[in-house]
Amino acid sequence: MIDPYRPETLIDFKDPKNRAEMERALETVHAQLGKHYPLVIGGERREREDRIRSYNPSRIDETVGTVSKAQPQDVDDAIKAAAAAFRTWSRVPGDFRARVLLKAAAELRRQKFLFSALEVFEAGKTWPEADGDVAEAIDFMEYYARQMMRLAAPVETINLPGEEDEAFYIPLGVGAIIPPWNFPLAILCGITTGAIVAGNTVLLKPASPTPVVAAWFVRLLEESGLPAGVVNFVPGDGSRIGDYMVGHPLIRFVSFTGSREVGLHINEFAAKHQKGQLWVKRVVAEMGGKDAIVVDETADLDAAAEGIVSSAFGFQGQKCSACSRAIVVDSVYDDVAKKVQERTKQLTVGLAMDPSSAVGPVIDASAEQKILGFVDLGKKQYKLLAGGEKAAEGGHFIQPTVFGDVDPNSALGQEEIFGPVLSMIRAKDFDDALQIANGTEYGLTGSLYSTRRDRLERARYEFHVGNLYFNRKCTGAVVGAHPFGGFNMSGTDSKTGSPDYLLLFMQMKAVAEKL
Ligand code: NAP
Ligand code: MG
Repeated sequence: MIDPYRPETLIDFKDPKNRAEMERALETVHAQLGKHYPLVIGGERREREDRIRSYNPSRIDETVGTVSKAQPQDVDDAIKAAAAAFRTWSRVPGDFRARVLLKAAAELRRQKFLFSALEVFEAGKTWPEADGDVAEAIDFMEYYARQMMRLAAPVETINLPGEEDEAFYIPLGVGAIIPPWNFPLAILCGITTGAIVAGNTVLLKPASPTPVVAAWFVRLLEESGLPAGVVNFVPGDGSRIGDYMVGHPLIRFVSFTGSREVGLHINEFAAKHQKGQLWVKRVVAEMGGKDAIVVDETADLDAAAEGIVSSAFGFQGQKCSACSRAIVVDSVYDDVAKKVQERTKQLTVGLAMDPSSAVGPVIDASAEQKILGFVDLGKKQYKLLAGGEKAAEGGHFIQPTVFGDVDPNSALGQEEIFGPVLSMIRAKDFDDALQIANGTEYGLTGSLYSTRRDRLERARYEFHVGNLYFNRKCTGAVVGAHPFGGFNMSGTDSKTGSPDYLLLFMQMKAVAEKL
């Protein structure tokens, strides 16, 4: 019998025992840096000369590992392997598939500190951020396993006189799984295992900055008894191998999480019918955000400032849910801006490996350049309240940066920067604040700090985001408690970690037998 789902408890790194264990894990992982990871196709390892070098964004000359890059031929072979595996995997009872996930979750729980340590090196996550990511991966597997057990039951139908009528869910086929680097384990694990537990088989193309975490996860699935060919590991350049996968006539669906730009491209490209293609491809795309925290004059201003700073600068602002706009009503704007400024200035920027760092590096050189471009633009146009410079040499460090009195319709107020840059926006009153909050093309997360019931109730329906929070930060969604995913240009309106999620990778079949 399986216990009801409960989210994983986060590690308290103030506890000396946990600190010591994390230090040991960092040493163990450090000793393994630089290893090479091959492709995995139908359970077979395959090497390629062409490789991705994954490096530590805190110390850019440190190689985390190298990973073979899949070539078009490898993608063809992986699709063949996945199609062969689909014949059996799609017919295995849902319970069986669910148990592979439960086993993998147990295995990951045992290796929690090692995976967290690897994320510290490969993604530049601080200790608690890395732990949060690993915990969420465990949660996805525990949750989707239980959802599959539920969905394995027949759908409720009536019998017509003289007939036995039934309906049930069947999987779609071979899918392309394309995750981002910012939750290198949680999102990769969630979108992979959600698809396979439903009976599909997949090609997994990890994001190029974080392919080693992905390779470790694929190994963990194998160790947990996942049959060969169900998950095929094909890293490579998104624009090259990603396009080849998405356009392939034998790919049945694409599950993507990443930027608006790439998501729209995939949606369009996947819609084009290819010769020999038997279906309309299904695309699940979770995309970017320009998330806002609104503060009114009745709010607890200290709590609001705390929520803003933590949502804006956790993982260096590189979360789709990160607060990049703080919209504050005029009468308390100056107070909140001052509190945000003070708190931001206290954040220490440093090596992700160092537990005293609150803010680590951004992911890579192109992210650094893009973010610093927005910082320069902000410095020309607005009041700089904190940060505004590169923080240290040797890694991609940028000071947490706050601009005041930003125009909500400017580039800073509209574009996803995906880094530690916060725009403070002054609103005339609550009506104006809500209008500004809704005034972007995105609709992912948002938060309102207020003590007025009428405003909370109005925001409940009018603040148009997929994940809305009241009197708390706008990051840190928990699987099963906060079904996650945004509206408008933030994606295709799907919700991860929800009872609806697995249905995105299934179709219903109805069978009527005349008796
Ligand atoms: P990205 O640049 O869009 O890349 C995402 C994935 O797409 C990567 O694996 C990438 O591979 C691949 N890719 C790139 N071009 C492709 C193409 N033409 N065809 C197929 N695949 C292609 O996003 P990112 O920089 O990794 O992640 C940051 C973005 O993700 C932000 O916009 C953030 O808001 C969004 N995000 C959204 C959610 C959500 O739930 N809504 C969650 C997390 C992140 P390469 O790495 O090889 O380029
Ligand atoms: Mg990218």
